[in-house]
Amino acid sequence: MVLTWRNCALVLTSSFSRRNYSQELIRNGLVGMVGRTPLVRLNKLSQETKCEILAKAEMCNGGGSVKDRAAYFLIQDALKKGQLKPGGTVVEGTAGNTGIGLAHMCLAMGFKCVIFMPNNQSQEKIDLLRTLGATVTTVPVCPWDDPNNYNHHARRYAESLENAVWTNQFDNRANRQAHIETTGPEIWTETLGKVNAVVFGTGTGGTLSGVGTFLKEKNPKIQVVLADPQGSVLYNYFKHGKLERTPGDSITEGIGQGRLTENLKGAPIDDAFPVFDVDAVNMTFQLLHEEGLFVGASTGLNVFAAYKLAKQMGPGHTIVTCLCDTGHRYYAKLYKKEVLQSRGLLDTMPQVYHRYLH
Ligand code: PMP
Repeated sequence: MVLTWRNCALVLTSSFSRRNYSQELIRNGLVGMVGRTPLVRLNKLSQETKCEILAKAEMCNGGGSVKDRAAYFLIQDALKKGQLKPGGTVVEGTAGNTGIGLAHMCLAMGFKCVIFMPNNQSQEKIDLLRTLGATVTTVPVCPWDDPNNYNHHARRYAESLENAVWTNQFDNRANRQAHIETTGPEIWTETLGKVNAVVFGTGTGGTLSGVGTFLKEKNPKIQVVLADPQGSVLYNYFKHGKLERTPGDSITEGIGQGRLTENLKGAPIDDAFPVFDVDAVNMTFQLLHEEGLFVGASTGLNVFAAYKLAKQMGPGHTIVTCLCDTGHRYYAKLYKKEVLQSRGLLDTMPQVYHRYLH
C-alpha cells in the first residue's frame, strides 16, 4: 500500500496495535516510571580510588527524586488499608521531595494533594508542588515534639477531612518497604551480588533501612553505612548511643534527623560518619565539573561519603549510593554565590567551580 496523508493514520494504528512490544521495556504511565533507575558508575572517583563507586540515579524516577518509590508505596498502603478512596485527599508533611512524588501520583491516580512544609526549604520545590496542583502551606521550623511541627499540621488537617489520609512517611513502614521491594533488589541484581557496601544520608530512613535490610538478608557481610549532615542526631546515636545533635545546620535538604523514626528503628547499620557541608557542597560541584552530573546537595553528601568509604575500605570494593535529585530544585540556594558566601562555603570552594555559580 502507498502511504498517503489519508491512509497513514489507519496503517500506523493497525500496525502499532498488532506489533508485539516488549512489556519489559515499556513503562506503564507515571507509576511505571518509578524504579528501575540506572545504576551509574562515577568514573573519576572510581578511577582514583580503584573501587567501583556506583550510584542509583533516583532523579530518573517519574517525579524526579529518591522519594517517588516511597510516595507510590505510601499511597498503595493507604488504599489497601481503606484509608483512601477514589476522589480522596493525600496529606503529607515533607521537606518537598515526598510531596512532589505524591503530587505526581495524585494527578495520575485522581486524588487531591495537600502538603505542609518547613519554611526553610527551597522555593523551587514549593513552586513545583503548586504547579502540580498541590495545596502547600509552609510553617516555621520547629522540632518534632512541638505541636507546630509541619508533620502535626499534616496529621491534624487529614483528621479534619473526610476521605483523607496522612501518609506519615517518617513512621509508616510502607516507606521502608518500597526500598526492601525495589531499590535493594535492583542494587543486588545490577551488581550481580558483588556490592560490598552501601552508604546513604537519611531523612526518614526509608532508603537506608530498606536497602540495608534487603541486602543484609542476601549477604550479611555487606556494610550498611549512614552518612549524616551537620546538625543531625543520627551520627551520635548510631556511633555513641546518644540522641545528640552535631553542631551547625546544613545547606543540604531532605536529610538529617532529630529523632529515631519508625523507618530507622532496627535498621542494620554497621557504621556512621558525619559529613560537613563544605565536603558535601564541594562534591556536588565536583560531580558537575568532572562527571557532568547536575545534582542537589544531599547527593553531594552521599557521594562524598561513598568516596570516603572507598578510601577506608581500599581498592577492589564496590560501593553503592544514590543520586537523590537534580540541581534544578536548588538553583536559588546551592548554585548561588551569595548564599554560599553567607554560609562560609565560597572561599573553601576550588576556583574552577565558581563558573557554575550565578
Ligand atoms: N535526599 C533528598 C533530597 C531527600 O529529599 C530525601 C528525603 N527526604 C533524602 C535524600 C533521604 O531519603 P529518605 O527519606 O529515604 O531517608
